[in-house]
Amino acid sequence: MPLLDKVVIANRGEIALRVLRACKELDIKTVAVHSQADRDLMHVKLADESVCIGPAPSTESYLNIPAIISAAEVTDAVGIHPGYGFLAENADFAEQVEKSGFTFIGPSADVIRLMGDKVSAIEAMKAAGVPTVPGSDGPLDEDSDRTLEVARRIGYPVIIKAAAGGGGRGMRVVQSEAALLNAVFVTQSEAAAAFGSDKVYIEKFLENPRHVEVQVLADSHGNAVHLGDRDCSLQRRHQKVLEEAPAPGIPDDAREEVYAACVNACKEIGYCGAGTFEFLYEDGGFYFIEMNTRVQVEHPVSEMITGIDIVKEQIRVASGMPLSFAQEDVSFQGHAFECRINAEDPRTFMPSPGPVSHFHAPGGNGIRVDSHLYGGYSVPPHYDSLIAKIISYGETREVALARMRQALEELVVEGIRTNADLHRELVRDSAFARGGVSIHYLEKRLNG
Ligand code: ADP
Repeated sequence: MPLLDKVVIANRGEIALRVLRACKELDIKTVAVHSQADRDLMHVKLADESVCIGPAPSTESYLNIPAIISAAEVTDAVGIHPGYGFLAENADFAEQVEKSGFTFIGPSADVIRLMGDKVSAIEAMKAAGVPTVPGSDGPLDEDSDRTLEVARRIGYPVIIKAAAGGGGRGMRVVQSEAALLNAVFVTQSEAAAAFGSDKVYIEKFLENPRHVEVQVLADSHGNAVHLGDRDCSLQRRHQKVLEEAPAPGIPDDAREEVYAACVNACKEIGYCGAGTFEFLYEDGGFYFIEMNTRVQVEHPVSEMITGIDIVKEQIRVASGMPLSFAQEDVSFQGHAFECRINAEDPRTFMPSPGPVSHFHAPGGNGIRVDSHLYGGYSVPPHYDSLIAKIISYGETREVALARMRQALEELVVEGIRTNADLHRELVRDSAFARGGVSIHYLEKRLNG
């Protein structure tokens, strides 16, 4: 079965460049689709063809489904890679891509839909034997007595979450019964406005968990494998800042058990492509919170410790080919970190777009930089502020961390403000160096 011959990269920034690099390696022709504000993106210059799909606002360009499908039509492309964000987890997009005769590089629209609704995702996971957070086991209904009863059974604090939520939005923690019904009402109204659905559910709010996730890959021939785990506990406002693989200090048996459950779940739901099972990890237990049906920002740390190219495998399996390896072929070696460098004010965290007068990427043994930045490039104000991912690898966690410290010293971004200094502090933080801090650690540190 041949690989897709030509692929539209329906994204921008570093992930568009990452996908382009994978296509080039596989000898696949590339089409960059970009907004009017993104003519100068590095991957637009490197792609075989490029098509402007609309004005700067993403609603008119990167979220413009007809424009993207038309670009595939006029360029005779066969596949569309959605990257992450934008339309990557939009089941309607995946469906329209397939109905228009193209290959969506990701799982089927049905599976995206199933996992995109967190309530149905949790149900499917429970059925497949994946451990979940104690909760309402379904959406809350009009019956407020039942809501109060559910929360009482779970025990406070609880968290109310929008079934269609994402990006850290649509969640509210409730400490006591007095605040519950009002919080449910507010979350429902917010969810209706933000996600077009007021479906919410309740979970036990775990007080000091870590965020540990499992990377999987599956093909259309019934094969599914895991590529181990990542710890993404360093978060600000539920957004990941610094990640590592593997998650430090997790007992092997707990790890193997959760991997087996994830692989089984992939088979049960007919998953095809790259995906991530996200868990909270507390007191030795894993609790599923959601599945991301796409490549993730932090995928490189798993690539570094396995030597497997996740984006190339995504393209292979979307082409109908089997995975290029089996679980027994995967050997986990060493440790990797990733620092997300954002164009943002280090104190206020407000975006800091504008022209980059000087950019110097770090290098050396074990350092990988995934970035679309170059000297003279201007960061547009319209999109996510991620400008570079610095990834370090070492035979041990200590070596990888030492390399990251040095890489951050070498990094130079001038002309715009970045969060590089925050990373420089984090990689010297003694609790982080010990490993295993909780999801609240970074915010506490920033506020303390
Ligand atoms: P999103 O889709 O918006 O990313 P998630 O369900 O993945 O939402 O949750 C994002 C983050 O919110 C988690 O990484 C964690 O920090 C926090 N969180 C979510 N559910 C819980 C919970 N039950 N207890 C404690 N923290 C939670």
